[in-house]
Amino acid sequence: MNSEAIAIWTECLRVIEKHVNEQSFSTWFKPIQPARIDGSVLTIQVPSQFFYEWLEDNYVDVLKLAIKTVIGANGRLEYAVVVDKGNSNNQPYMVSYPQGVSNPAAKKKKETLAAAAHSPFDLSSLDEQTTLQSNLSSSYTFNSFIEGDCNRLARSAGFAVANKPGITSFNPLMVYGGVGLGKTHLVQAIGNEIKNGPEDKFVLYVSSEKFVNQFMDGIKDGNIKSFTNFYMQVDVLIIDDIQFLAGKGRTQEMFFHIFNHLHQNKRQIIMTSDCSPKDLMGLEERLLSRFKWGLTADLQMPDFETRIAIIRKKMQSEGIHIPNNVIEYLAYTVDTNVRELEGVLISLIAHASLNRVEISLDLAKSIMKNIVKDIETEVSIEYIQKSCAEFYGIKVEDLKAKTRKKEIVIARQVAMYFSKEFTNHSLKSIGYHFGGRDHSTVIHAVQSVNDLMETDTSFRNAVQEQKKQFKIRSY
Ligand code: ADP
Ligand code: MG
Repeated sequence: MNSEAIAIWTECLRVIEKHVNEQSFSTWFKPIQPARIDGSVLTIQVPSQFFYEWLEDNYVDVLKLAIKTVIGANGRLEYAVVVDKGNSNNQPYMVSYPQGVSNPAAKKKKETLAAAAHSPFDLSSLDEQTTLQSNLSSSYTFNSFIEGDCNRLARSAGFAVANKPGITSFNPLMVYGGVGLGKTHLVQAIGNEIKNGPEDKFVLYVSSEKFVNQFMDGIKDGNIKSFTNFYMQVDVLIIDDIQFLAGKGRTQEMFFHIFNHLHQNKRQIIMTSDCSPKDLMGLEERLLSRFKWGLTADLQMPDFETRIAIIRKKMQSEGIHIPNNVIEYLAYTVDTNVRELEGVLISLIAHASLNRVEISLDLAKSIMKNIVKDIETEVSIEYIQKSCAEFYGIKVEDLKAKTRKKEIVIARQVAMYFSKEFTNHSLKSIGYHFGGRDHSTVIHAVQSVNDLMETDTSFRNAVQEQKKQFKIRSY
């Protein structure tokens, strides 16, 4: 960083500060580092690609104004984006924007990439093209893949495979799980780890869809041989979303041969699927039985703590700060999958900046209402009933019915207890919502729950665990 650049950027900040509000200023301008000044071109370093696009979309006018004021009419701005934060033996990898103008290396890379895309099976210059042909995205690493109970087995098996590809008994490694739970991220992390490792392995990531299309094109062009030759030379084959091969008999047959060849030669095979192998419909038995040779590991939805860690990590990598209560709120409410969680996060940042407002709990709530249909963001008696019924494994109707079975009575009393604590309903109204019971029944329920919590630790823990989610909602 040179002092002239710092001085110029400090002046620019003075101009910018007058035109944007405090929140936007600290979110979008404070994290920027002046990198260098080259004649009338100032280069600033921003923490992520997202950040760069955001500035260009929303603050281009104010940035232009600042540059014009400070540097003069011919002043220009360029960006350096940290694409890969690097590690001890690796310098951070940066890309400059606008692309191609000031960074010939980035331009060349783009051109080679385009060329590689046109001749996917060309192995002639494998050495320089390994990175390109691997189809790996460098942001998918083990480091950015947060560990939790939900993924421990898959992650550690993946790590073992990454360290000894083809040699462990985890061959093939099959990772399965619902949409957006991190399958692609994990298997690409394995690929990146191997690619950056000491051995010179040819790692190839391919979606099953692409595999099928290449196979079809091969048939069409009479080029099947180069298709198979190409795949048989791979050291580590990562094939994503294998369920897509369902019902595609001929592609499966080809995959079967490639699989056998690679496996016999101790090459590593890694696959993902959206369901467990036994539920994979439309896949041939002989192929399925091959999958059992190695290890099958599943990914589940991360629990609350892991979701918090994922959000924190994401924010850190985007270079953006959001308040803790908002993080907790998001982690509680988005319990479908990680991709959705990230989507909500991005909209939140987007809204905050677009409308020039602070990232707050209210904003998060209103965005959740827009994104997720019929989400209940207030604690209502209905919500409490639903939650308690789920927690105790009974039906909501049971809470309102006459039945006096012990486990139902307890669930009902707990639901009344929460209704008293978290809603503004009167005792009478609460009783009414529980099958027209009397207000004295509600008083009795609250008393019973308090008593039981004093004597029964596991009951107390269960109630407190449940309480957390209502607290978040009633922030
Ligand atoms: P899938 O392939 O299972 O549909 P992806 O791998 O595309 O899911 O994951 C969806 C998004 O969630 C990606 O942006 C990914 O980085 C992120 N993600 C999933 N699991 C984790 C995790 N454990 N830690 C960090 N990010 C995760
Ligand atoms: Mg995927």
